[in-house]
Amino acid sequence: MAIMYGCPNSDQVFDICVIGSGPAGLAVALTCGRRGHSVIVLEAGDQKKASLALDSADVLDSTTHAPLHVSTRVGFGGTSSAWGGLCVPYDPIDFSRRSWISAPEWPISHDEFTRWRVEAARFLGCGETFDDTGSIAIRNEDLDSGQFGRLARRNALGKVYYTAVATSRSVTVCMGVRALNIICDSTGSQVVGVDTSAGSVSKRVLARRIVVAAGGLRTTQLLLALAQAWPRHFQSNTAPLGKYYMGHLTGEIAALVLDNPRDAAAYLYNRDPDGHWFQRRLKLPPSLQEMERVMNTAFTLRAPMLNDPRHRDGALSALALLAPALHKVSLAKSERLRAAAVGQRSSDRLLHLRNIIAQAFTTMRNLSAAAVRRRIGHLPFMTLNSAGRYALRYHAEQAPNQYSKVSLGSKNASRLTIDFQYTHVDVDSVVRSHESLDKSLRKLGIGRLEYIVPRDQCHDAVSNQARDGYHQIGTTRMSDNPLEGVVDRNCRVHGFANLYVASASALPTSGSANPTLPVVMMALRLADHLQNTIAR
Ligand SMILES: Cc1cc2nc3c(=O)[nH]c(=O)nc-3n(C[C@H](O)[C@H](O)[C@H](O)COP(=O)(O)OP(=O)(O)OC[C@H]3O[C@@H](n4cnc5c(N)ncnc54)[C@H](O)[C@@H]3O)c2cc1C
Repeated sequence: MAIMYGCPNSDQVFDICVIGSGPAGLAVALTCGRRGHSVIVLEAGDQKKASLALDSADVLDSTTHAPLHVSTRVGFGGTSSAWGGLCVPYDPIDFSRRSWISAPEWPISHDEFTRWRVEAARFLGCGETFDDTGSIAIRNEDLDSGQFGRLARRNALGKVYYTAVATSRSVTVCMGVRALNIICDSTGSQVVGVDTSAGSVSKRVLARRIVVAAGGLRTTQLLLALAQAWPRHFQSNTAPLGKYYMGHLTGEIAALVLDNPRDAAAYLYNRDPDGHWFQRRLKLPPSLQEMERVMNTAFTLRAPMLNDPRHRDGALSALALLAPALHKVSLAKSERLRAAAVGQRSSDRLLHLRNIIAQAFTTMRNLSAAAVRRRIGHLPFMTLNSAGRYALRYHAEQAPNQYSKVSLGSKNASRLTIDFQYTHVDVDSVVRSHESLDKSLRKLGIGRLEYIVPRDQCHDAVSNQARDGYHQIGTTRMSDNPLEGVVDRNCRVHGFANLYVASASALPTSGSANPTLPVVMMALRLADHLQNTIAR
């Protein structure tokens, strides 16, 4: 049995020790294990099923950053037991230096990184086609609608990979084992093992190579502790470690109204012949981002506000009328249903009824189809509506900012202090990206934006909705220059011959993509690098 509670009793020196069994840790461990290397995985969670976060951290501003028990999970499979499963690749522009924002250039190219995309997509089970090469896609100087976001089919990776790990001869997963400190040899340039605790039992696990894959924040915490133990050695690293903490800005400030309501079919969730769900994303092409001096933002369609009967969607009107009842019996976990349950205007009820009666058959069909899709695909509730009117959700890049950071607590070094900050640059970029998208949609005859907040309050609305902590990017960023980054192009921590990071914390920019697909690509690339170093 390769999954056990606590550490093995032997003093075996493993080829590779991986800290964390989330998507990144599992990708490295399983790949290296398949190649015959002995791998030990230390996982702080003590259940097969993920429980809530191991301990807390001090979040300085809870309006912009979720608490860790909400934004992370411990246990086999890590936070994949809670994630939404949306897989999106980074764009070429995310890798390049841009004169209009302070984002660094990656030390590797987009083309090189993309070599691990298919393997990562297979690992996550989301289907492999992210670029639409068909005739519907628009890719010109005004608009890019040629990228898909894809949903992982079975998203809790602990379940997906349990048998593979349990039957592996090379991989040992130690549950309930928390990595406390990474241990160096007397020179401080080689790591030799990890001090751990499992309940009241302490043990040093020995390995030739250590991969820290403990999620963005806990990975940074372990490196900050190492820097504290080796200040002299880490001096050159103190600049970037823990800094440039990024996530994304998400929310809605506008509705998209399509000139031809039927066009919406291409922008809702669709299913490919292999049964994978995907959704088209709308973006500003790189030349337009440069001209408007904005960052990368992806827009996707969502169901319109239920309460607003102008959507002329019978299924949504039925839900709007039922929302107060659904909300009471707590069937309504959805934020939209919750919002619809309060503040409904009685004058709108007649209009909702009119929507239902006018399309009784379509209403029934759409309601049952959407219920099935939600059950099997965990999809947002969305149907085609005859007004061509949809909520427009943005998922926007955040610029690296050295004052957005994490550090060890001043009173208690085992607690993390999280000082996560958005700036006006982030917020302004989102507002101006909407304005630019609106111009492009009108110019191309596709549709227009209708703002759902007064125009002079858009900045406040974006700022009020900005909250992350789920995407933990940038705090051990990659750069070939140790003064600008914590890990090199191979994810090796600068100054250490055999210490590596597999985490979103190593991504130098946040792009408009959700991070897990890129993180798994990075982890698989690292597994190949480790294979090369072991073979040498
Ligand atoms: C509600 C929610 C929805 C999300 N939706 C999406 C989405 O749709 N798309 C997307 O791309 N991303 C999404 N994410 C983010 C996604 O879950 C993470 O990007 C992903 O899980 C990161 O993988 P990881 O392996 O780096 O870290 P994790 O999955 O966090 O795994 C880290 C593991 O390390 C363990 N660990 C931590 N510290 C220690 C230690 N000291 N010793 C031993 N073990 C330790 C933890 O217990 C955990 O099991 C979502 C997250 C949440 C919370």
